[in-house]
Amino acid sequence: MKGAWIVDQGCVDVTTCFQVTRRLHEEQTPYQHLEIYESPRFGRMLVLDGAVQTTEGDEFIYHEMLAHPGLLTHPVPRRVLIIGGGDGGLLEEALKHPLDRATMIEIDSAVVRSSRQYLDVISAGAFDDPRTELIIGDGVAYVTEGRDPFDVALVDSTDPVGPATGLFSEEFYAAIARRLTPQGVVAVQSGSAVYQHDLIAMVRRNMAPSFPTVRTYVATVLAYPGVVWSFTVGSLGREPGAVPVEEIARRTEHFGLRYYTPRGHHAAFDLPPYLRAAIEPR
Ligand code: SAM
Repeated sequence: MKGAWIVDQGCVDVTTCFQVTRRLHEEQTPYQHLEIYESPRFGRMLVLDGAVQTTEGDEFIYHEMLAHPGLLTHPVPRRVLIIGGGDGGLLEEALKHPLDRATMIEIDSAVVRSSRQYLDVISAGAFDDPRTELIIGDGVAYVTEGRDPFDVALVDSTDPVGPATGLFSEEFYAAIARRLTPQGVVAVQSGSAVYQHDLIAMVRRNMAPSFPTVRTYVATVLAYPGVVWSFTVGSLGREPGAVPVEEIARRTEHFGLRYYTPRGHHAAFDLPPYLRAAIEPR
């Protein structure tokens, strides 16, 4: 294999190799090993503990699909909580909505600093938006100890390892539900829809005691293991599948979206029977 390659271990018996041309940055932070690479196909890539987190080439798919289904399920979101998401791509998508405030809790300041330095096209100025409140800290502690209410919570975490383990727990989702207003919605990345059925089932099981409606949807995130990635929404109010196509079209008209569409919203929740059966709580 000509040139340099990085290996992302998607699961025990499948890896993805990416050709890279340069490593732009590398550091061991108090929480994880952080690297930023230049690659011919995906542009610049953020890698944490050997796992690809985001790339310039396909970040719009992941960030649009983590942000908008949940934000559109809430009829009038004004206050949004983002947990993780240190690259700022999710924040950028959320701020397309007419919000009063977006509060972001990221545990690792090095991810924010190096993303602003090397991956600024992903956050596209969102960190400097007057509606942004950036807090460096643990999302589990913030949600458990704080009092401020939110309309929508978005969780853009790494896999459930190290500091992110608690972000997939029943207690964490219960604490989120207590911080949400009556029509409140939470949306989380819930792992590969190809290799992590157990993780998706666990997220659904842990959300169910606190959210009357729990729905999983998928999108094709090209640089992620298995490509078909899952997201899970918990709603205290509206059913995500009940959001009229016309309302989605009206509310996203000026967003300049490249992946998420009004009909795509509904198609994403229409899971194939084999996948629905594989992720049903056991
Ligand atoms: N999209 C990526 C994925 O699906 O793997 C995640 C990207 S984002 C960079 C993940 C962020 O979650 C990292 O910056 C990490 O530092 C942050 N994180 C992990 N555990 C956290 C916690 N307990 N509180 C706040 N942020 C956390």
